[in-house]
Amino acid sequence: MENYINIPSDEPIFSISTAAKLIGVSVQTLRLYEKEGLIIPFRKQSNQRLFSQDDLKRIRCIRSTISEKKISINGIKSLYALLPCWEIVKCSEEERNACPAYIESSQPCWSYSHSSNVCSTRECRVCEVYKGIVNCIDIKNLIKKIAEK
Ligand code: SF4
Repeated sequence: MENYINIPSDEPIFSISTAAKLIGVSVQTLRLYEKEGLIIPFRKQSNQRLFSQDDLKRIRCIRSTISEKKISINGIKSLYALLPCWEIVKCSEEERNACPAYIESSQPCWSYSHSSNVCSTRECRVCEVYKGIVNCIDIKNLIKKIAEK
């Protein structure tokens, strides 16, 4: 999908109602995706959610995965959980062995709370792991990139 406007694709600019209209879903659907940990909208100081053009692409990918490939929200979470985030953030072996994102495989790394490892000071929305999966094909490409390192 092409960008709507000529500004950086990761710039959060659309309100939740505009994002929902552009994608053709309800505001409740976007809230559900957020609650389930599939997306991380930008939050203004006022707590208002904003979405970037990359967010819209990510949500379209989620929609098509659900409707065309018949993969459930839990299935998508499990796919995201397979991303080897530890290879990207280079956490220590000790940190890995104490991290739910490394041990479990039911939800994406960013949906866990990380209070005592390298991710505690990282912002998931701008992390290479989360930003690396804008389009549907990106998961595979991201894994390939990590494997080549
Ligand atoms: S910073 Fe967030 S998205 Fe990045 S690896 Fe850590 S938990 Fe995952």
